[in-house]
Amino acid sequence: MRLIIISRLLDTEVLIVGAGPVGLVLAIDLGQKGVRCTLIERKPAPQFLPKMERCNARTMEIFRRMGISTRVRSAGLRADVPMDVYIVTAMSEPPLLRHAYPSVAEARRQIDACTDASMPLEPYQLISQYTLEPLLKSVAESLPSVSVRYGCEFLSFSQDSVSVTTQTSAGPIRSQYLVGCDGGASAVRQQLDIALHGEGDLLRLWQGLFHCEELFDRIPIANGPGRGRHYHVADERSTFLIMQDSTRHWTLHAQLDDERAMAPQFEKAIGVPVKYEMLYVGEWKQNLLIADRYGAGRVFLAGDAVHLVIPTGGLGMNSGVGDAIDLGWKLAATLQGWGGPKLLASYEAERRPVGERNVAASRYASQGRRKWRGLWRNLDELVAVAEVEQRKSNEMIGAELGYRYAGSPIIADEPGGPEDDFRQYVPTSWPGARLPHVWLDGHKAMQDRVGRGYTLLRLGNSKLNSSGLEEAMKARGAPFEALDVPDPIAREIYGFDLILLRPDLHVAWRGKRLPVDPANLAALVTGHYPLGR
Ligand SMILES: Cc1cc2nc3c(=O)[nH]c(=O)nc-3n(C[C@H](O)[C@H](O)[C@H](O)COP(=O)(O)OP(=O)(O)OC[C@H]3O[C@@H](n4cnc5c(N)ncnc54)[C@H](O)[C@@H]3O)c2cc1C
Repeated sequence: MRLIIISRLLDTEVLIVGAGPVGLVLAIDLGQKGVRCTLIERKPAPQFLPKMERCNARTMEIFRRMGISTRVRSAGLRADVPMDVYIVTAMSEPPLLRHAYPSVAEARRQIDACTDASMPLEPYQLISQYTLEPLLKSVAESLPSVSVRYGCEFLSFSQDSVSVTTQTSAGPIRSQYLVGCDGGASAVRQQLDIALHGEGDLLRLWQGLFHCEELFDRIPIANGPGRGRHYHVADERSTFLIMQDSTRHWTLHAQLDDERAMAPQFEKAIGVPVKYEMLYVGEWKQNLLIADRYGAGRVFLAGDAVHLVIPTGGLGMNSGVGDAIDLGWKLAATLQGWGGPKLLASYEAERRPVGERNVAASRYASQGRRKWRGLWRNLDELVAVAEVEQRKSNEMIGAELGYRYAGSPIIADEPGGPEDDFRQYVPTSWPGARLPHVWLDGHKAMQDRVGRGYTLLRLGNSKLNSSGLEEAMKARGAPFEALDVPDPIAREIYGFDLILLRPDLHVAWRGKRLPVDPANLAALVTGHYPLGR
């Protein structure tokens, strides 16, 4: 009752600063859960500037659950274009090295045939950030409880025990919670006096965005490189070209003295004359940094505001989407009154270790890239080293799917646990892990059967009575359902008769029979444990 009265007195329940992909995903998640939230963005509108372009498989699973994966795919790169990576001297020359990676259509065929849960439900999707942001914005704007305000800048905030008052360029906004999704230079983080640690400003590169109608159709040029996603030029300037989602836009990255060298470098990398227009040039820095804290009090931070990785490996935005999804249901649960005090506290406990892990994965991938790049004077040696080292950037399925919330205060963890390996994904139902994707009878995806609240999977023919847990969860006011999954494949892969899933599809608990005291389990997973504290 007190919560409802406070909420009515305030302008909004959650104020989100920053309409990059992370702030937008958080706004959509909260909006779909019926939470009143306001998203402010200082830019007047989304901009046509290049940044990320690959949503990884886990992000696409999340988008599927939000009901937007089909829209994202229709706006992104067509499904038949392969993701091959090349090392070249110029695009007009036969490649020095080619690593083949499947198109979305091929990846989907592999996923359809997969029976051991080692693959995600959704393949990756290439979609440029300048295409994704307006799409996410329109989804957020369509939700009745979400207000999206561009041209509104965060200036400062103050917080007390019940609310946050934020000063913006359009006046003050009072909310119950504030989330800074305001990118690497986060003013929200700076006001909290939370430092970033790690390696900053490791390398500066110029990035240019080029429009070229004919390049995609002219590859292979002279039986040259073929169609793909990345073209690394074996040179002393770390030059590489990335195809964007339209196949008519390309970004070129290179270490150059100034922006005037960008257009000649583009021409040199292609190697044959093409008609093109340079739409944008800007400088960006490579960082491997993580924030000491992910928030304080009623203020939280997510995305680049708390972790900055080298895009090698594509763990920037994708890590931030994971933050948003972890925070979203915990904010909703707390605002709806059933989330206990440990729930929001578990956000940092769960996501900061994942942030550290992804910074390490990105370091590992970029060191591999640096190793072969340093050999540009000796192409034979470069190719031999790149054969091993370049793969590190594009084969990180463990980082994408295998993160686990070990040691979380709201997970019924078990001693031990599988090795953490960001190169490989080994499916597991260990508490804290993402529920591995399994095809059920009729080629139905397990993930699609799981409800929006907590779900107790009753697997195989166990027919266990779970009413004790049901009552305990209901007594907490938490959304809960029990789901019978008789398919033997699911029981075999998950290895347990009972699996309790959280709203974000992570395993909260598993067992072969119900715990003796289901009230304790309900208290733990909803953030109320230890009881009485
Ligand atoms: C060249 C390049 C390639 C990349 N490729 C990939 C990739 O393939 N996959 C991947 O996952 N990641 C990739 N990344 C990283 C990815 O772009 C970032 O991780 C992602 O943009 C972070 O999203 P965010 O929403 O946290 O922050 P941002 O995208 O930085 O958004 C922050 C938003 O906050 C707004 N803002 C800032 N301050 C204020 C304020 N005071 N008031 C109001 N609004 C404010 C900003 O205007 C901005 O819109 C790449 C990055 C680069 C540079």
